[in-house]
Amino acid sequence: MPPKKDSQANASGAGGDNVTSSGNEIFKLLIDAVTDYSIFALDRTGRVLTWNPGAERLTGYSAGEVMGTHFSKFYPQEEVDRDHPAEELKTALAEGRYEEEGYRLKKDGSTFWANVILTPLRDAQGRHIGFTKITRDLTERRNAEEKRLAEEQRYRILVEGVKDYAILMLDKGGHVSSWNEGARRFKGWEAHEIIGRHFSNFYPDEDVRAKKPEMELEVATRVGQFEDEGWRVRKDGTRFWANVVITAVKDKQGRVTGFSKVTRDLTERKRAEQELRAAYEGLEVRVSEKTRQLEEALRARDEFLSIASHELKTPITGIKMQIQMAKSRLEKAGSGEVDISRQMKALTVAEGQLNRLTLLIENLLDISRIQAGKLSYNFEKTNFSTMFNELAEGFRGQFIATGTDLKSYIDETLEGYWDRLRLEQVMINLISNALKYAPGAPLIVFAKREDGHAYITVQDFGPGIPDKERGKIFERFERLGQTRNVGGLGLGLYISRQIIQAHGGELELKAGSEIGSTFCIRIPLDSREAKPLPGKGSVI
Ligand code: ADP
Repeated sequence: MPPKKDSQANASGAGGDNVTSSGNEIFKLLIDAVTDYSIFALDRTGRVLTWNPGAERLTGYSAGEVMGTHFSKFYPQEEVDRDHPAEELKTALAEGRYEEEGYRLKKDGSTFWANVILTPLRDAQGRHIGFTKITRDLTERRNAEEKRLAEEQRYRILVEGVKDYAILMLDKGGHVSSWNEGARRFKGWEAHEIIGRHFSNFYPDEDVRAKKPEMELEVATRVGQFEDEGWRVRKDGTRFWANVVITAVKDKQGRVTGFSKVTRDLTERKRAEQELRAAYEGLEVRVSEKTRQLEEALRARDEFLSIASHELKTPITGIKMQIQMAKSRLEKAGSGEVDISRQMKALTVAEGQLNRLTLLIENLLDISRIQAGKLSYNFEKTNFSTMFNELAEGFRGQFIATGTDLKSYIDETLEGYWDRLRLEQVMINLISNALKYAPGAPLIVFAKREDGHAYITVQDFGPGIPDKERGKIFERFERLGQTRNVGGLGLGLYISRQIIQAHGGELELKAGSEIGSTFCIRIPLDSREAKPLPGKGSVI
């Protein structure tokens, strides 16, 4: 039933005087001016009594179309089916007010999201005569809200699913308020175990004691962000190397409401870095060791060249001198007698110098043969005594010249399969050394057969060799400081030992000698099965 026009004025509870009438007029104008809100009255059963432009704008219905119709026409069918409109009226009447948000229908059948306030209307006597209904279109706000929620949801799902970063939120006090998959993986805590607990649980004890977690939040609060790389602790107490970024989350007023914390596990990277660094350092050490060896080799070569040229020149000068002296004496021979014994002496000295030169050159040649692995051996039946006597004969002049007294105790039957010339070379080296380093002292050579071996010793009574140098003297170019003033290349003992070893034997300096040096040779009586040593690569 369409309402009468004046019932609208009555509904406002106004009287009949002029002032009130104009008040009613103004009130009606006011309501009509509102276009953003739908404001209208219903009778007690819910039929529309008044309509305003706001209501028309919102629903699309004109006043003529809705006046007297039931307000349930603005409700979606399911709401009508569950009698919701009537429920609203009942609640408004009982509680003095009813408010809700929900979908409402427009004339064209589309829906909008509405905020609705229903208030009972009473007349001057307090009798219930109907309701006012104010409706606001919140569709845009709701859409925005829904969009925000959807975005939030998407973001939450994204963050929760991230496996390679621990992403979590902290409240203002540093308590964990959200947890993601990455956090679970790195730190080992399940969300329900850690949410609500303080984030200092992720720090080593020493950092907690030093109040590092608090300091980090303090910096993030002050400058907006804090970044750090360092050790963090998993639930099981093990450590991992982490990159951590803490960002302060602020509200519109700029007040810090919490923090976001993103952590990356860099343990692998750190390990790779450490391995790389270790490999690099190892390489550096090896390179500097190689450089050192190379420098040492160059130094040894230079020293060798200077000693060698000096060593080779000295006997040549000596020989030259002796020959010149002999020549001038022979020239003068015409005027007088030739002093044969002086000539012989000069020639013996020259011969000694020549022997020395020969030995030096032989040694040099042998060194290069040894390095190339080309020192060959010819093992033949050799009588040691015969060989030694011939050799000693060759030294006779030098023994006399230096006043050296050779005493030999040699088993004349001592013989074996050896390289005669090489064995002779070893003996020459040992005797030459005795002559060089212990001139004028007795020299004892001893040779016997022992357990299928020949055992030979060469003993002098010179300055001797300290026990700690026993190994060194058998190395190439090694010369002891105490004998520097005596010529030599530091090769003789090295070559001698190589030769004896190629015979399957050993050459050593006897340890613990109080006076002089005793070199001992032990070789099998048959060296034919012995394996010569391979070459060792040249340093010259
Ligand atoms: P060289 O005698 O040419 O220097 P060697 O290899 O024969 O080389 O000897 C190495 C070093 O051992 C000698 O320089 C010397 O310092 C020491 N040496 C060798 N034999 C004796 C010895 N009989 N008495 C003292 N020192 C010796």
